[in-house]
Amino acid sequence: MRISTDLLAQVVDHALRDAPAECCGVLALRDGEAVAVHELENVRQGPKKLGFEVDGPKLARLLDEIEDAGGELGAIYHSHTVSAPYPSQTDVNFAAGWPGVEWLILGTKGAAGPEDVEVRSYLIDGATVTEVPVSVG
Ligand SMILES: [Zn+2]
Repeated sequence: MRISTDLLAQVVDHALRDAPAECCGVLALRDGEAVAVHELENVRQGPKKLGFEVDGPKLARLLDEIEDAGGELGAIYHSHTVSAPYPSQTDVNFAAGWPGVEWLILGTKGAAGPEDVEVRSYLIDGATVTEVPVSVG
């Protein structure tokens, strides 16, 4: 995907704000370019919120709104606060319900500021994980 410096800064800010809990949200895309950031609440219970869960009906409503606005669900983003920004088995399982969606993962492990956050994106097709480029600017 392509994403502007400003939108990426919003996503990175969300990840750092929620750390050490994982953050999650959705990026609306138009023609492969991110046009809006929608933060979601991580509803995973527990003190650390390692891993993430979203409210399914809320996500479905959000996707309707994105489509009504002429966008498309382009990417689901979340952060990894203690591991590398690579899809976990849980992510791969969850992705089965959202075919064709890019998975943007923000690695905040050890990050002291936005410049330390690692940003990666993947397509997940069944058990096959393919990294795809993120072009910023
Ligand atoms: Zn994950």
